[in-house]
Amino acid sequence: MRYFMPTIVLSGEDVVKNNKDVFKSLGRRALIVSGKYSAKKNGSLSDVTAVLNELDIVYTVFDEIQENPPIHQCLDGAKIASDCDFVIGIGGGSAMDTAKAVALLIKCGSKDYQEKLFGDKDYPHLPVVAIPTTCGTGSEVTPYSIFTDFDKETKVGMARRIFPKYALIDAKYFMTMPRKVRDSTIADAYTHALESYINVKSNPYSELFSMEAMRIFGEYRTHLFADTIDAKVLGEFVRASSFAGIAISQTGTSIPHGLGYPITYHYNMPHGFANAMFLEEYLRICPKDKVAKVLELSRFDSIAELGAYFKNIICSSMTKIDISYEEIARFTKELMANEKKLANHPDKLSYEQVFMIYKESFHK
Ligand code: NAP
Ligand code: ZN
Repeated sequence: MRYFMPTIVLSGEDVVKNNKDVFKSLGRRALIVSGKYSAKKNGSLSDVTAVLNELDIVYTVFDEIQENPPIHQCLDGAKIASDCDFVIGIGGGSAMDTAKAVALLIKCGSKDYQEKLFGDKDYPHLPVVAIPTTCGTGSEVTPYSIFTDFDKETKVGMARRIFPKYALIDAKYFMTMPRKVRDSTIADAYTHALESYINVKSNPYSELFSMEAMRIFGEYRTHLFADTIDAKVLGEFVRASSFAGIAISQTGTSIPHGLGYPITYHYNMPHGFANAMFLEEYLRICPKDKVAKVLELSRFDSIAELGAYFKNIICSSMTKIDISYEEIARFTKELMANEKKLANHPDKLSYEQVFMIYKESFHK
């Protein structure tokens, strides 16, 4: 059994302003990695730059990160501030994941970047501070980074494992999320908890976090039917997201994430929805004792009720995707080649079972 979570988590109101020493301890030059708009809108970027200015820390802002970031954005980021001491990722999973890869490429150079990011050997990296503004990926406490690979026509995980040195979590940064981002990221966090719990690597330590994340989701999940969620309840979802992140940092994700990657790539479906849409059919092939606990914690009477709930949430934000049996066959083959994801599921899955999950999820 193994539990390893080296990220120092600091949370609370004005967490950035109240923890200036975090930045001071990491050096004199920083690179800030963020998306184009949200970090400016929710106040996280100005909070960070105010502290850096006060401490005379020189910084560069790289605010180009796209959703589901393509691999080349890591190279672009590393080029911008090749001489910095640490990297601050502000935003959703896309910005935080890119910050981790940029921290590696600045430290050890971008030459042979494919090998450095995706090869077998380990490489050093600069320290990373992660400041989440969506409540889904848990990237602030996970060692993972996920990128869009245009050659493989899907999403791929970086081989290097980079835990942020610090996660700074302030609930006010989440209040500006539009409903679609809010719902998709909460669905992502729930899926993390579920996939970590039903996982061969699940253990009593990871289950403390995965079960509590599902319990919080169960207590508050009906709030997703409203356009706005008050700060207190959103704070609960933020906590559940980090808990679910800690859980997957021990176990990894499994089948729903593997099923969802090509749907995000080909149909631009937000990551969280692309996982959650498969949960109903996935749970039908999972061990019954685990499924019963999942349903109890998240307050569903049946797998069908869980499926209807997510269908309802996803339909509030998205139009239905039309997908052919040929595409399903192609995506099934891709998942059957993803040994890491398959290995995390408790039973050996067949091509027919995976095909059926896709088919029933899209065509029932
Ligand atoms: P995201 O792609 O980071 O952001 C989605 C959208 O939300 C962007 O348009 C962003 O705007 C906006 N946004 C972010 N915070 C906001 C706020 N507070 N207010 C208003 N808008 C806001 O979404 P995400 O779901 O958090 O991350 C998805 C990525 O993370 C995927 O690539 C996924 O594969 C990856 N992921 C990583 C892990 C991990 O462990 N590392 C786990 C699961 C998923 P801006 O562009 O303007 O910022
Ligand atoms: Zn995810």
